[in-house]
Amino acid sequence: MSALPQNPRRAAAWPARTKYPKSIQRSDGSVRILKSASNNRKLGGTAKSDRITRGPHSGALFLAWTGIERSAGGGCPASCPFLTDGSDGPSCYGDAMALAHRFRWNKSVQRNIKRELREHFKIERRIVIRWGVLGDVIDDAENLPGTVAFLRELMDEFTGLRIFGYSAHAPETQTGRDIAALNRDYARRCIFRFSLSRESSGEHSYAAQEGFVAAGGRGFLCPEQRHDAQDKRLDGCYACGLCLPNSGTKLTVEFSAH
Ligand code: SF4
Repeated sequence: MSALPQNPRRAAAWPARTKYPKSIQRSDGSVRILKSASNNRKLGGTAKSDRITRGPHSGALFLAWTGIERSAGGGCPASCPFLTDGSDGPSCYGDAMALAHRFRWNKSVQRNIKRELREHFKIERRIVIRWGVLGDVIDDAENLPGTVAFLRELMDEFTGLRIFGYSAHAPETQTGRDIAALNRDYARRCIFRFSLSRESSGEHSYAAQEGFVAAGGRGFLCPEQRHDAQDKRLDGCYACGLCLPNSGTKLTVEFSAH
């Protein structure tokens, strides 16, 4: 399990927290938890699209779930280089997301995510969720399934559901092994890339921080971040789809900005 303190008394020792605690929303159903990708520039682009337009999931409704960065209980591993407040190095990209609706991980959020998906699937055939825009993969706690266990429940109940995300946990840790098993068991429907700046390997898929270029052509620059006028810059994940499950590439996606 990760080094993250799940016990609130231990959480007092956790060295960091979001800069925007007031953005944490109630999860009692009074606020929608699964947000349209059109609310997020990186996902829905300037087109503010709420549909995937490219690849095998073209036409699917595109949603996002956002946890809490740097939070005890938010899943971030102690090894993440962006845990600090950014004053002495690179900071978590959550620092630039003052307006994001963040949600704590609890029974209420799990219950209401399922309720929202049941409502969506009354009219939708396929839904893609960008899981964990902020935060990371959370371990099981007493009486509360963690991310992997909960996503298994979702995948089993909603056959039209597709999920993609990134994790700073290493595949060699127990959390990483749990993520890899999820990727394996739902290979055509779910993928979490490990954000560890490594070349793609047979088993795992990776995402890389700025400055890392995968050797041997085993990576590609995220098309949404290309700034060279010669490149055809894509407008957001909705029009790209390379990080989504079953996209046909396991190459490392390289980001020019974190
Ligand atoms: S490679 Fe494509 S899907 Fe992945 S983050 Fe970049 S735009 Fe989004």
